[in-house]
Amino acid sequence: MKFTRRHFIKNSLFLGSSLLFSPLSLHAGPKNRIRWIPAYEKLEMEGKLVQKIKQADAYFENCQLCPRKCGVNRKKGEKGFCRAPVKPVIFSYHPHFGEEMSLVGEKGSGAIFFSNCNLRCVFCQNWPISHEGRGKEIGDEDLADMMLHLQKIGCHNINLVTPTHVMPNILSATRTALKKGLHIPLVYNTSGYERLEVLKLLDGIIDIYMPDMKYMDTDKASKYSAGASDYPEVTKKAILEMHRQVGVLKLDKRGIAIRGVIIRHLVMPNRVAGTEKLVKWMAETLPKSTYVNIMAQYRVEYKAYDHPEIARGITAQEFLEAMDSAEKYGLTNLDPQSVALRNFYRHRRSN
Ligand code: SF4
Repeated sequence: MKFTRRHFIKNSLFLGSSLLFSPLSLHAGPKNRIRWIPAYEKLEMEGKLVQKIKQADAYFENCQLCPRKCGVNRKKGEKGFCRAPVKPVIFSYHPHFGEEMSLVGEKGSGAIFFSNCNLRCVFCQNWPISHEGRGKEIGDEDLADMMLHLQKIGCHNINLVTPTHVMPNILSATRTALKKGLHIPLVYNTSGYERLEVLKLLDGIIDIYMPDMKYMDTDKASKYSAGASDYPEVTKKAILEMHRQVGVLKLDKRGIAIRGVIIRHLVMPNRVAGTEKLVKWMAETLPKSTYVNIMAQYRVEYKAYDHPEIARGITAQEFLEAMDSAEKYGLTNLDPQSVALRNFYRHRRSN
């Protein structure tokens, strides 16, 4: 049965709430305002986007889209580590209000949740989507329609959640949507486990990169992310490349993100995530004004119960220690919600 947008909307778990929001264009406002142009539109104007789409599509025949480098032919139905087919599988798409404030704005971040994942962490907070691949398989044209729908209802960006294994589909859908009027930034919301070669293909297409930096130690990465011992080195290089492409986060006059890097780091129990090493590396390698979100919302999910070291939530003390490290190394652009939580815990401790 052909999967239509109407069908998807009916089955999406979250979309109902999105229908409450009225349209808002990123470019709405005074007639003489200069229109902000997304990177992918500039690339299309230069005639280079179509070539990148062809190069990306070729990856499916010998899949090397991520550092797992499975080499499977996804066009022939073969599946690699991520178990993803050649078409994108979508769990849901909707305005998301739980992201960073500069992505959410008034109308929400236009999140598209792709099923399957190339990292597969034991503590995955989205495990029914990422590990079990729940969702609907769709075509690239449908994906383009979803992007346009999110823009139409006022979302400030297209937030591509776990995009690595479907990057070629995203590029193809972006060009289709561009021809029909897409003009808001793409947010590449990734685990950070990305190949440099693939990121270079995205140069000039993505305006906002939002990588995780999950661990700084190879043994932790291997243990909790399915043998990905190279995660720390690979992700550090990936973040440097992302920064080279788009730089420090820039906001428009309304405080909405339009270009740059947002680094996310989830504090884990028992210093598993290596927060101090991360902030030291950032302070020594990137501008101190790099936006970093040190997150406190770790919870025990999926198979984390099998690992005593991570089978509990974090304490206020562990979060404060992480935030104190960021301060100690001079990072100046910490996520405001993390700062507010830090201030709350500090206040509570001092009373
Ligand atoms: S995207 Fe999937 S199939 Fe391709 S290399 Fe990565 S894990 Fe393997």
